[in-house]
Amino acid sequence: MPSAGSPRSVLQRPSSEVERGLRVVVLGAGVAGVLSAHVACQHAHSVWLVEGDSLAAGGGEASAAEEIMKVARQRRGIPQLAHPHTLAMGGLEAMEALLPGFKEEILRRGGVELDLARDLRFFDFGDVYKRADDSCLKSVGASRALIQATLQDEVLARNAGKLRVMDGCRASGLLWSEDKSRVLGVELSTGERLEADLVIVACGRSCLLPQWLKAAGHPVPAVLKVNAGLTYVGRLYRMPEDWDKKRWLGCITLGRPNGIWGAGMVPVEGGVWQMVEWGYEGNVPPMEDAAFLEAAGRLPDTEIYEAIRRAEPLTPLEKYGGAYNICHSWEKVPPPPGVLAIGDAVYAQGMSVAAKSAEALDAAMAAALPAGGSLEARRAAAAGMGRAFHQRLAAVIAPAWMMATSEDLRYPGTKAQGVVPPPRLLSLYIDSLCKASHRSSKVMELFFCIAHLVKPPHYLFHPRLLAAGIQQMLRDALQALWPASQPTKGALKAE
Ligand SMILES: Cc1cc2nc3c(=O)[nH]c(=O)nc-3n(C[C@H](O)[C@H](O)[C@H](O)COP(=O)(O)OP(=O)(O)OC[C@H]3O[C@@H](n4cnc5c(N)ncnc54)[C@H](O)[C@@H]3O)c2cc1C
Repeated sequence: MPSAGSPRSVLQRPSSEVERGLRVVVLGAGVAGVLSAHVACQHAHSVWLVEGDSLAAGGGEASAAEEIMKVARQRRGIPQLAHPHTLAMGGLEAMEALLPGFKEEILRRGGVELDLARDLRFFDFGDVYKRADDSCLKSVGASRALIQATLQDEVLARNAGKLRVMDGCRASGLLWSEDKSRVLGVELSTGERLEADLVIVACGRSCLLPQWLKAAGHPVPAVLKVNAGLTYVGRLYRMPEDWDKKRWLGCITLGRPNGIWGAGMVPVEGGVWQMVEWGYEGNVPPMEDAAFLEAAGRLPDTEIYEAIRRAEPLTPLEKYGGAYNICHSWEKVPPPPGVLAIGDAVYAQGMSVAAKSAEALDAAMAAALPAGGSLEARRAAAAGMGRAFHQRLAAVIAPAWMMATSEDLRYPGTKAQGVVPPPRLLSLYIDSLCKASHRSSKVMELFFCIAHLVKPPHYLFHPRLLAAGIQQMLRDALQALWPASQPTKGALKAE
């Protein structure tokens, strides 16, 4: 991604530009920041994207695996970059809505089309979900490095002349009005200052916005945290030439209801597969090759073991701990005028929530900044839109938070802060939908639509799911009362 030159070359904006229109600064060029910069370009006169890491483009003769690892080393600000990143269908739809043609472009660059209900083997609650012959869930298998590069290139190309990038340069604080009531821009690690009518903070999990606000005497919201002590260990593989892709293109093995270990494997660009094992409650998958393979062999489904046993490891094992749920409720305590937060800086959940949040930003900017009106009025409206945006954002975050935290809260060792667990009946009902998916691909597809943020959570009570869930709960109750009993063949058939 070309940058605007050395950070030192950029000082305050020329006065001609200040007079012409709305100025936005976006901090952080992850998924949330890049998409927010694109959205801001549709509403503002000029946009700066400030990123701590270098965004220099790849290229050359590197293989796909070498390129992924090179980007991971370059983007230290995204420490999870080398790990598999499944793009949920709702996230892909949001990216496509913001950047029409995005899916085609990522496939052109080597991404693999992945029907999430047909091509994935999903082992959960002791059995495999029944796969669909075809479904509406056509996502893409691609590394985070490729997703990131495609987003960056597309956003920069589509906003040439309006969007400028300053990489290799961190924001070190906010610029304040004299009475510290309003944010007027950012201070950079170079000592320089960048003025703005609106600062969008997309700095990821390590975001310092709460500290910056506290230092200026502003209140910050409580932090909600659900930590199931989850640690990932994974690497890249090349699958054997004779691998039958009809068997599966991606494989997920969960240890539920009681197991603490799991694993996943997905194809990405260049014939590479990303594979990861995980452990809950502070249990860490082995970091030594033979033990790592053996651990895969001890999972309740040995498909991934059979695959990696014959596959060629392309990279060393990498560990990532600290993947807990953390959410700042900015909708309850909105930030002061002139600044708002987005992406992992609000709720660290995924690229899809980040993309859907950028859609919410677009809607909030459109509502706050109607065409016409004086520049002064537009500036005031941009600065003051934080409260309305964070209310919209809370609605985007809620379903993802519910799905992710209700799963993590099932582990007895999970530590929760400021969180009310979901009603027990709801958890049992969701479990029953997973189990009903063993017998019905239609139940599985609809359930996946909710899990992949395509359908809203009230679809959990769609008549098809309600019928399947209740049948499954009755089946479980029957078996709990009379463990040896099996339902009469066909009596409780879900499909
Ligand atoms: C182990 C793991 C696995 C994951 N798997 C998935 C998955 O399968 N699917 C999925 O959708 N999501 C997954 N995620 C989540 C996903 O990585 C994030 O939600 C996603 O990256 C969106 O984050 P973001 O853009 O808000 O922040 P980030 O991607 O963290 O980007 C923040 C950017 O801000 C920059 N920055 C930070 N501070 C400053 C500063 N002061 N000045 C300038 N720049 C700054 C950083 O350098 C970085 O580039 C996973 C996360 C983890 C930890």
